[in-house]
Amino acid sequence: MIDHKKTYFIDQINSAASQSRANTKVGAILVDGESGEIISTGYNKLPDLYDQEIIRYMTMEGKKKFVIHAEENLLEKINPSLFKDKYMIVMVNLFPCSNCAKIILRHPYIKELYAPPIKVINNNWLDVQLESLELLKNHLVVHFLEV
Ligand SMILES: [Zn+2]
Repeated sequence: MIDHKKTYFIDQINSAASQSRANTKVGAILVDGESGEIISTGYNKLPDLYDQEIIRYMTMEGKKKFVIHAEENLLEKINPSLFKDKYMIVMVNLFPCSNCAKIILRHPYIKELYAPPIKVINNNWLDVQLESLELLKNHLVVHFLEV
C-alpha cells in the first residue's frame, strides 16, 4: 500500500512541512494502514499564541523550550480512542527525536514508522536519534524512506 502511494505520501509530508515557518521544516502524516487515507498532518511550530515568524530567530535553547515538534502536532489533533483497533502508520521527513518517539509509543495502534535514515546534524542530535531508534524499533516497524 505504501509503495503504491509512496510519491503521494511524500508530497503530503512535504506539503505539511512547508507550513512550518522554521528554518528546518519538518512534516509528519498519520496514515490509515488499511484504507491509505491520511488522518492527520503535522509540522514543527510554536504554540498558536505566538507569532510563527519568530521561530526563525530563536536560539537552540528557546526552540527546545517552545517548539512543538511535527509528531506532537500530528498526534495532538486526533482523538486516540477512535483508532484503538486500527493499524496506523506515521511518516516523517526527519527521524524523530527521543521525546517524539515516546509520544508515538503512547499511541499503540501506530504500528509502522517511515522516516529518513538518521543524519548527523550534530553529535547531540545524533545521540537523540539513536536513542529514539532504539526505543521505537522495540515497539513498531521502522522503515527508512528518503523524503
Ligand atoms: Zn521531536
